[in-house]
Amino acid sequence: TCTSGVCLLPCLLPFGGSLCPIGQLHPFAPAEQAQGYLTLIRELEERLAEVTGYDKVSLQPNAGSQGELAGLLAVRGYHRANGDEQRTVCLIPSSAHGTNAASAVMAGMKVVVVATAGDGEIDVEDLRAKIDKHRDELAVLMITYPSTHGVFEEHVADICAQVHDAGGQVYVDGANLNALVGLAKPGHFGGDVSHLNLHKTFCIPHGGGGPGVGPVAVRSHLAPYLPNHPLQPAAGPETGVGPISAAPWGSAGILPISWAYVRLMGGEGLKRATQVAVLSANYIAKRLEPHYPVLYTGPGGLVAHECIIDLRPLTKATGVSVDDVAKRLIDYGFHAPTMSFPVAGTLMIEPTESEDIIELDRFCEAMIAIRAEIEKVASGAWPADDNPLRNAPHTAAALGGKWEHAYSREEAVFPAGVSAADKYWPPVRRIDQAFGDRNLVCSCPPLDAYED
Ligand SMILES: *Cc1c(COP(=O)(O)O)cnc(C)c1O
Repeated sequence: TCTSGVCLLPCLLPFGGSLCPIGQLHPFAPAEQAQGYLTLIRELEERLAEVTGYDKVSLQPNAGSQGELAGLLAVRGYHRANGDEQRTVCLIPSSAHGTNAASAVMAGMKVVVVATAGDGEIDVEDLRAKIDKHRDELAVLMITYPSTHGVFEEHVADICAQVHDAGGQVYVDGANLNALVGLAKPGHFGGDVSHLNLHKTFCIPHGGGGPGVGPVAVRSHLAPYLPNHPLQPAAGPETGVGPISAAPWGSAGILPISWAYVRLMGGEGLKRATQVAVLSANYIAKRLEPHYPVLYTGPGGLVAHECIIDLRPLTKATGVSVDDVAKRLIDYGFHAPTMSFPVAGTLMIEPTESEDIIELDRFCEAMIAIRAEIEKVASGAWPADDNPLRNAPHTAAALGGKWEHAYSREEAVFPAGVSAADKYWPPVRRIDQAFGDRNLVCSCPPLDAYED
């Protein structure tokens, strides 16, 4: 309902069925005027604690990376309270997301990198050696489970136990919780602290730089060191480490999305979403495996929630790069998956639970058709420097005028499986990768344009 420019959402249970301004509340509104929000915040915190197996959750961090900083500050606070000032070493596997090391440095820790073995898992020998070497200064191990390589680390419980034996804490990066919700709890298999990304696993629209929420979840011994806020005592423990973001409850305005998602899905629904996400990733891995190598798999040849398709051997043999494949996918009507992360020259595909089988098949068939196109470059049927992969994506404007390519207009814009009836037309052709980012050109009018 909108009255005099103010939009009110009809609210559900915790608000007694009245109308409330979900998106209108000021972050510093007095708590007694925000009771509905506080109920919603508490309920969401409790449910996230249940899902992760931890005791206490703070919704203040605005991103996963902020959750990391908050979690590491909690670890620091805990060690300090125990008289362990010197525990500042943070072990991080080389496969970790870049934010892990950045957060550790911001929390005043010293990063020590642990090697990754050939199968994509943590190198257990190297980990043991590093734990021994830094036993007295060990603050924390940060691991991502399932890993950024898309596998369930088989020895995760063992690894956590070794760190605890040395007096360290275990930070489980929960960004891949999409593969765990309803199936396993980081707080139960050895984690002391995790962040979650509500904009990854709990339905908050992600991408394009919208607001995020990166709750930090801890076991009870770290709870006294969660974020708090000088202007809002209800936002955290009195003994907390101070604010991690400006507003007491961070991006509170988007919490109703995750709250409603959890309520609507229920325990069974959340578990089912996880199962479908893992199944979808494995479906793609199995369908594409005969055409492209899948870089890492866990025990039994399975992946977790994502799979990494290795283009590097094909690039070496044919010159067709991961960029060419990513851009060519646009001609087939797809936004490319994550490119060159966490491994340069590869594509990381994470379908999640959101895509149905028809869409998964459409994607796999496009990738298989692209593989056949690569073959035509390999065989010399298409020149290495003039083929639909190298020139992708093709706009409508590119079709006009004289056509002087080694392939036809149809092959350019209507490749296998793309129908003229629902073709996606990209608005721009290829621009030169990162060149523009590294070579800034001022496009503002020159000063003399302002002379009258
Ligand atoms: C996304 C991600 C992060 C950081 O989360 P942001 O919300 O982008 O700050 C950290 N670790 C892993 C493994 C991630 O995938």
